[in-house]
Parts: sequence; structure tokens; C-alpha cells
Amino acid sequence: MVKGRKFKPRAWSRIHGFGSRWRVEGAFSAIKRIFGEYVTAGKFANMAKEMIMKAFIYNIFIVQIRGLPREGPLGRSPGSRATQQPVDYFYIVRRETDSMLEGAAEYLLRVLPRYAGQVDSGNALDEELLRGLEEVGAFKALSAGIGDVHGLVRIASRWSPAVAHVIATSASVSLGMRVEGGIYSLCVTEPGGGSDVRGNLRTAAEEMGSGDEAILTGEKVFASNGIYATHFLVLANGPQGPTLYMVERGPGVRAEPLDLYTFRGAGVSRVALEGARGRRIGVPGKGIREALEAINHERLSYGYIGLGIMEGLLEEVGPGALSKRISGVELGDYQGVRWMLAELEMRARLLESLMNVATSKVMRDGRADPLDAAVAKVAGAELAQRAAWVAVQLMGGSGFARGTRVERLARDSRMLDVGAGAREILYDYLGERAVRRYRGR
Ligand SMILES: Cc1cc2nc3c(=O)[nH]c(=O)nc-3n(C[C@H](O)[C@H](O)[C@H](O)COP(=O)(O)OP(=O)(O)OC[C@H]3O[C@@H](n4cnc5c(N)ncnc54)[C@H](O)[C@@H]3O)c2cc1C
Repeated sequence: MVKGRKFKPRAWSRIHGFGSRWRVEGAFSAIKRIFGEYVTAGKFANMAKEMIMKAFIYNIFIVQIRGLPREGPLGRSPGSRATQQPVDYFYIVRRETDSMLEGAAEYLLRVLPRYAGQVDSGNALDEELLRGLEEVGAFKALSAGIGDVHGLVRIASRWSPAVAHVIATSASVSLGMRVEGGIYSLCVTEPGGGSDVRGNLRTAAEEMGSGDEAILTGEKVFASNGIYATHFLVLANGPQGPTLYMVERGPGVRAEPLDLYTFRGAGVSRVALEGARGRRIGVPGKGIREALEAINHERLSYGYIGLGIMEGLLEEVGPGALSKRISGVELGDYQGVRWMLAELEMRARLLESLMNVATSKVMRDGRADPLDAAVAKVAGAELAQRAAWVAVQLMGGSGFARGTRVERLARDSRMLDVGAGAREILYDYLGERAVRRYRGR
């Protein structure tokens, strides 16, 4: 109640663990004894002030007692002087995750500040984190809806774009193919290259009987979620050309993680299919177009990954760097610095508006608009990369420290221009559509 939000007992135990509730309630009792349980002011305006003051003190107490990570969104970042704004945190949690994903966003904000570095250095999500994501419903994209998924992706990207990508990839298959119940990987790219999907497609599907069952043989690369997936959506050459098949993890499927310097922990894998059993899920011969339905959802989510990366970077460097005095002036008071932030603010707000429109179109039409998806991906990549540049610039030499949140987010920002379709491919597509519209024939 003090936080402006009630939790059911199960949600509470999932987020904070059993026992923590009593510690917090013990703190409440102590505070109530000191400050009283009633409002002493007489005038209404003063009553409001008194209540806000008490809630503020209670919140500080909760953070101390509950032991939220010191470097978390409510705590102090390493090297920073001020604490983050809880207002923003609650705004996002309330706005983005009101339905069945209640608790999921809070779970991410609780665990990721602690685990993001580990996910990156180990190039994997540990079993506990993966199960935690499952338990809070992060893979139930169809039931939760795209708004909730995007909210989670954005929040996770502040700390770990890799974790965000795990959620987004599975959701893209779920939303694109209207399936649910597993963790999904999308297997399109082959060793020959991802830009020319049709030209490089070598994976073959031999269909049996009525054609619903198939045996798949081939090799996929850069398959995100490859090491976590329960199901693989595979593009393969069937009897009538490129077709989509759903393959369950089992005999004949082997996934090995790739050792990339970006999106470490997103489970990006080489997936060998050696006589794997699958079932046809799409229309024969229409696999590339159908795979694009899922890829467009992924491209859209890159818009939110970009926004999340920017927020994470500014959260990290802002409190320390902007208050640092250089030649007697706080860095945040130099016009040159203010204009850097103004530019980011403008780009972020424009992208956010696009994302809101794009998300409502998905809700209305049941599919992602390919143009929105292309623009969201390019704009998300640009925003994240520009924010990484600004963050390092504001920090000066210390912006190059290894093993930091800034380093991780900067490394991840670069990938957004390649994954889910290279930037040039999207520019070609956007340009071709624009020429068609304005040429007048
Ligand atoms: C972290 C990560 C995750 C990924 N996840 C998945 C996944 O889950 N599933 C999946 O199937 N794939 C995935 N991919 C693969 C991704 O889709 C491909 O990397 C992408 O499509 C580019 O293909 P490529 O890397 O083979 O580069 P290529 O196709 O070899 O292209 C190389 C470069 O050539 C340039 N280029 C290509 N075409 C043109 C053109 N028309 N005009 C000008 N320049 C051009 C671009 O700059 C491009 O980067 C992932 C990749 C990464 C890095």
C-alpha cells in the first residue's frame, strides 16, 4: 500500500521471498511507533503533505530492510551520487504490466542488476534465472499480449539486453505463429548468410504420409535461444519450396552456443539438425513470408531494446557524470552536454510514439506492420548506439572500464544493426516502398 500497489501473497513470495514480508512489516511497526498511525495535520493540504512524507520515509525503510541490490534501479549505482527515481520505475511497472505478467517486471528489476554481469561473462542464463522467467510468465506472450511483452523487453534491456532478447525471440515466434507453451527459437539463417535467405537455404525437409510429419536435415547459425529452446521454428526446403516446420528439442537436434562479444547469454547458437523430427506448421512453399511475420515482431522489439539500452546507460552514468564539477561547472550545466541529452530525448520520444502506434496496430490487426517493424529496428539501433557514444563521452576515460554495465550495453547496442536483418536490407526495403509510393506508378 505504501508503494501504491498491493501484492497477492503468491506474487509477494515470488518477488521478495517468504520471510521478507515479516521483516518489512516489522519495519512498519517500528516506524508507526515513532511517527504515529494517524494524520496530525488539520488542513487538507497539510494532511496530504504529511501522508506523502510518511510514505516517502516508509519507502526508504523498505529499500533498506528488503535489501534491494544497492546498484538496482532504486539503489545507488557504482560511482553515482544520487539514487534513481522510483517514480519512473513505478510508472513503467504499472503502465506496462498490469495483467498476468504482474510481478514479472519487478522480478526482472530485482534479479537483473545482480545477474546481468554473470549472464554476460558466462554467456548463458543459469537454470534458476531461466526457471524464474518461466515462472513469472515471461514466455506466455500470446496470453499476456504484446504490450506486456514489450514492457518486459524494455525493462530487461536496461540491465541485460541478452535476457530481453531471450524473451523477445520466444515472443516473436509465439506472436507470429500463434503458438504458446514453450520457449521458442527461430532458425532461419544458414552458414551461407542471412541477408539472402532464399539463396542460402540448404536445410531440407522430407515429408511423410499426409505431409504433417517431416524429417529435417541441415544446419542453422545464429539461432537465438538455441540452447534454451523447447521448440525450434525451422525454415527448410520442403517438397513445394521454403516451408516452416516446428521441431521439438530431442534426438537429431544439437545446439552449441556461439562465443560472440555481443548479446552474450542470449543463447545465440549453431543448431545442427540431423534427422530431426518436425511437423509442418505453415503453408507449403510460403515459409519465407511466414517467417517474416515472426521476424517483424522481433524487429519491433528491437525498438524497445534500443529504448531500454539508452535508459540503462543514462541511469548508470547520469547521476555521477552529470554532477561532476569540471572547471568549476557541473557537467550537466554545459550547453554542449545538454544538447547531447536533448538529442537523445527527442529520438527516444519519437521512437516511443512509433512503438505505441505500432503496438496498437498489432493489437488491432493481429500482425506487425512490416514498415513499422523496419523503422523501429533501425531507430532502436541508432538510439542505442548514440546513447552508448554519449555515455562513454560523459564518463571520459572511466567509460572504458571493463566488466561494467556501460561496456555491456555499448557492446550490445552494435548488434541491433545486424540481427533480425542488416540495416542495409531494411533501408532497401524502406526505400523501395517509398519510391513505389512517390513515383506515382
Ligand atoms: C546476436 C545475433 C542474433 C541473431 N539471431 C538470429 C535468430 O534468432 N535467428 C536467425 O535465423 N538469425 C539470427 N541472426 C542472424 C541475422 O539475422 C543475420 O546476422 C543477418 O540477417 C545478417 O546476415 P549475415 O550475418 O549472414 O550477414 P550477410 O548476409 O553475410 O551480410 C553481411 C553484410 O553485408 C551487408 N549487406 C547485405 N546485403 C546488402 C545489401 N542489399 N546492400 C548493402 N549491403 C548489404 C550488410 O552490411 C551485412 O551486415 C542473429 C544474428 C546475430 C548477430
